[in-house]
Amino acid sequence: MSDVLSRLKKLTKCLHIYIAETPGRGFGIFAARAFAMGSTLVVDEDGDYYAGIMTLAEAEARGYDLSQDLFQIGTDAFLLPNANLDDFVNHSCDPNTGLMLTPAGYRMIALRAIAQGEELTYDYSTYISGTPERMSCACGAATCRGTIGAFETLPPALQERYLAAGVVGRFVATPAGQPALSVGADAERGAEARAGGEAVSA
Ligand SMILES: [Zn+2]
Repeated sequence: MSDVLSRLKKLTKCLHIYIAETPGRGFGIFAARAFAMGSTLVVDEDGDYYAGIMTLAEAEARGYDLSQDLFQIGTDAFLLPNANLDDFVNHSCDPNTGLMLTPAGYRMIALRAIAQGEELTYDYSTYISGTPERMSCACGAATCRGTIGAFETLPPALQERYLAAGVVGRFVATPAGQPALSVGADAERGAEARAGGEAVSA
């Protein structure tokens, strides 16, 4: 695909969402129209989403901060800020969307009906596992936990809800001690292999 076509394709991802300032939280992503529960708001599967994956040690050696900068996609595989839309999605302890990793990128799924103009959020804890990451949270939700930590620290009922919706990283440890299965499994395996310097088959 030519560079221009590739850029146009990326722009089409923004057809139903927009980025705007959100009070006290920098920028956020908002719904440009209403979405039904279970519908897909954003599909980013251009294949470049997993570029530049690194281990935590590599990222920290380059000055990146675990809580501020990195998005965990594998047991020890992290994405740097990459100017993708998901960089702008704020956390909520009562989110209206979830992220589903796929072999070529990710999808944003509506966890409930979303009205036009609503800010889109997801629960960062669905992609945090096995790290000491803890951020303070003041998301304003009635169920705000006060801190954002590993998936393992979430109330069991909430874990079940996210797992059932398929919006949890496969690397995340579940209550049964098994990795969560999701559509993103292949992507995360590939990502981890790349972070480890192994060849990845297409
Ligand atoms: Zn909160």
